Amino acid sequence: MFFGLLLLCIATVVGGLYAARWASDRILRADAEAIATQWTELLMQQFRNPAAAKGTDRGLHVEMISSQLLAAFQAAAKDADAAAAPKPAEDASDPGAFHRGKFVSQIFRYVIFGKDGAIFAKSGRFDDVHALDISDQSAGGGAFDRAAALGELTVLPLPEQIQRVFVPYRTGRAIPYIVAVDVDQYAAMTLLSGVMNLVMAFTGVFMAGGLAIPVFVAWRRTREILRAEDRLKFLALHDSLTGLPNRVQLREHLVRSMGRAERHGCLMAVLYLDLDRFKIVNDSFGHATGDALLVEVAGRLEASVRDTDLVGRLGGDEFVVVAEEIESPDCAAQLADRIRDAIAVPHHVNGHDLAVSTSIGIAIGPDDGRDADAFLKNADLALARAKVDGRNRFRFFEEDMDAALQERRRIEQELQQAVRLDQLEVHYQPQFDLSDGHVSGYEALLRWQHPRLGSVPPGLFIPIAEDSGLISEIGEWVLRTATAYAATWPEDTRLAVNLSPAQFKHQDLVDLLERVLEETGFPAERLDLEITEGLLLQQTDEVIDTLKRLDALGISIAMDDFGTGYSSLSYLTRLPVRKIKIDRSFIASLGDNSETNAIVNTIVGLGQSLNVTITAEGVETPSQLRFLRDCGCDEVQGFLAGRPAPRILDAAAEGGAGASVILDVA
Ligand code: C2E
Ligand code: MG
Ligand code: MG
Repeated sequence: MFFGLLLLCIATVVGGLYAARWASDRILRADAEAIATQWTELLMQQFRNPAAAKGTDRGLHVEMISSQLLAAFQAAAKDADAAAAPKPAEDASDPGAFHRGKFVSQIFRYVIFGKDGAIFAKSGRFDDVHALDISDQSAGGGAFDRAAALGELTVLPLPEQIQRVFVPYRTGRAIPYIVAVDVDQYAAMTLLSGVMNLVMAFTGVFMAGGLAIPVFVAWRRTREILRAEDRLKFLALHDSLTGLPNRVQLREHLVRSMGRAERHGCLMAVLYLDLDRFKIVNDSFGHATGDALLVEVAGRLEASVRDTDLVGRLGGDEFVVVAEEIESPDCAAQLADRIRDAIAVPHHVNGHDLAVSTSIGIAIGPDDGRDADAFLKNADLALARAKVDGRNRFRFFEEDMDAALQERRRIEQELQQAVRLDQLEVHYQPQFDLSDGHVSGYEALLRWQHPRLGSVPPGLFIPIAEDSGLISEIGEWVLRTATAYAATWPEDTRLAVNLSPAQFKHQDLVDLLERVLEETGFPAERLDLEITEGLLLQQTDEVIDTLKRLDALGISIAMDDFGTGYSSLSYLTRLPVRKIKIDRSFIASLGDNSETNAIVNTIVGLGQSLNVTITAEGVETPSQLRFLRDCGCDEVQGFLAGRPAPRILDAAAEGGAGASVILDVA
């Protein structure tokens, strides 16, 4: 388009030049013909009997020219001098003088030939005989012949803007004379070419103006289209947020690298990454911060891999790294660790310091997938396993993962129905006061009576409920059911309910608890809410604020599974924690491991100095019970004294038995 218009422009200018040249040639030629014809008329009128001059040695003699002709010459000279402002009125006696003068001044020289070519007369500048030699074709021989034989007016252009016109002079049907008139067109040509140049310049300017605008518009449009095409091409293959290759490009790359791995017999790896709990960042800090974090993560990923590896983004917080030519699966594991370490360094984004961890699934090629899609899917399965296993870790793909994942999806669907179908139950496990062996309270523990699988332990379905968001609904149900039941218990018996970290994010817990406690009539002062150290990992101001408001309601916060988390004890002084539950893994290794004994001793001492109740979980043997009592632990909970049961009546019976167990040991 642009080049088309440019070509049109050039063609128009060149064509215009040729047309102007052609037109000016035609005008000059017509002018020369007219002048020569007029001059011949004038000359032959005045030049009496040219034949009489024949044979005179120098041609035209002054006396042969009439006074009228001389007057014409003189008028010509005069007009030429006064060319700047000729005033025809001055010479009113001869109105044709001006026009005559104009053309006469252009007569450079002339010759009167006889029909046979003999010169009858020639003008003053006749010394240049050769120039008038009609036997010389270049000097006008052919033109003379045409004028003489055919009676045609012929024009022969000569150098220096002179046109030689051969005018056949007729008397009746005969052509006795041929008059060759050299017309000097220097002035006319200069004037004409000046005018032509001016016209061409104007035309050029108008053309340039007229064409420049559409050409410019066309050029801009073309440029925009090309840019848009480039952008579209880029977007088709790249993720618009991070600029990393997108799924399409990643897949193509994977197909090629799988082909290479097979041809060269070497290993390759696909690392499928997902940021842990990225949704929280989006929910808490907004999508702009979430996006900025993703861009940061993309940068760190690229910095962690080799130049030959490819990092792509599949969408959301999912990234993929394709590593070619690795020596062994170990190299992929090292790369996964490197990536986890790089991403774990807190990100300073939009004024927030964000700590995120990453789960990674690894598939090793060419064995872990028939094709690129299967390969990616298997890496994704390994990622799902890494998440189920507790996040912030990597897992290699294994053949049975697919089945496990299918089962997990199935459970997730069935869990959605569980609440509605009344398949959930709460069991209650007693907690004993070591000072006198009485039941201080019960912990509510969720059970799922699954029609196909039987009693499903919470450790299996709670993480699924957390991931799918079902935990809010289930948690609320547990809270309502347990407090409604506990409201019927003896007044000194407490109730402990477990809270998932996810419940802190998706619900206004304080509002929920106020409503539930009001509905069920259970006093806040008898309620323990068990949280885990994991919650404090995302120790946002909101979590701390919620805990403080719960505390203000009179509810006690208990730190569950103490010792398995991040064991930063500083939060114990900053948070309103009133109870610490030592994780059962410590209790299980008491006695035969002096290090654990020392740890448990320290925790108990810490509780005493902070005025926090210490409960030991998972107490199964009398020796564990004895150790705990000896070191000053406040409460115990475990199969030794009482198992979780659906009714407190049963639990109370067990509680009674438990109390005697405790007193016996004591
Ligand atoms: P947890 O809060 O630490 O609960 C104690 C777990 O230890 C219970 O397992 C209980 O049955 C088990 N246990 C008690 N005494 C012994 C013992 O002597 N030996 C052994 N080996 N185990 C003992 P359970 O009921 O399977 O619950 C597992 C976890 O599921 C709980 O750990 C808690 O974190 C979570 N959970 C249970 N119910 C709920 C709930 O309603 N909401 C939430 N968010 N989490 C819950
Ligand atoms: Mg608990
Ligand atoms: Mg626990």
